[in-house]
Amino acid sequence: MQFGAIQKIKFNTTIGSYSVVTERENYDSQITATDSEAKLLIDFFGKENIPIGNVKSHKEQAQKTLRLYPKGDEIKLNLVFPKPNKTELRLYLSTKAGFKPIPNSIWFMFIKNNELWIGSMIEQEWRDENALIIYDETEGVYQDSLSELDEIKITKLKARDVFSRDRNIALERIKIEKYMCEYNPSHILFNSRYTNLPYLEAHHLIPLALQKNTAKKLDVIENIFSLCPYCHRAIHNADKDLTQNIIKKLAFKRPELLNIMELKTSDIFSFYSVEDIY
Ligand SMILES: [Zn+2]
Ligand SMILES: [Zn+2]
Repeated sequence: MQFGAIQKIKFNTTIGSYSVVTERENYDSQITATDSEAKLLIDFFGKENIPIGNVKSHKEQAQKTLRLYPKGDEIKLNLVFPKPNKTELRLYLSTKAGFKPIPNSIWFMFIKNNELWIGSMIEQEWRDENALIIYDETEGVYQDSLSELDEIKITKLKARDVFSRDRNIALERIKIEKYMCEYNPSHILFNSRYTNLPYLEAHHLIPLALQKNTAKKLDVIENIFSLCPYCHRAIHNADKDLTQNIIKKLAFKRPELLNIMELKTSDIFSFYSVEDIY
């Protein structure tokens, strides 16, 4: 799979690819590079520089130099087209050479400073690290500002918001949704003691942490969803299935958002590190 916005930020690259190491690939000590992985390897090394056949008869040409993530040690792995029609590209894993990811872990490659990096980590670590990229430490400040009435307090709260969100846009969204949860309007809400209105939170479906990567404004009404505290916590913290369900429902509710941003639902999954990795 190609790197999405999150992985590009994480590895500070514009191009990369990742997928799961299967039991079989680990057992056979070889990975068949498909789609975006094959393209990356071919673009980087050049089709003509990858030998056809087995490694033994093309020892020098098959050996490719890569940088091992995260330290950047130089390692050499073998890469061949096993068949003359060049439809299959095979990368050999080797403990001795320094790269032998465990079964069901994620292996990845990316280009940085004209060098090809390779690495692996267990799936949970991969997802956790990616989720950190969109972590917003001033989220509470922003949510609090939505149920405050005191202008001085609101200004104080706003001054601490790392993303300088406009609370009025959020309040407008909540009003449009008639003070209901957008995931499920039947969700029971309590009233705010400050406003006497149902307590709702505002969630940016496309995380504001990605603002620096797009020219399109993300603090806009289309990107804001009115969510009850339960659903809001869930979209940020729940297991993969529930998070995917909430994202799907919200994305379906406002298809123009994904159109404007030129995104697919699977891109949104990856922003929350709940994408299906294959
Ligand atoms: Zn949120
Ligand atoms: Zn809800």
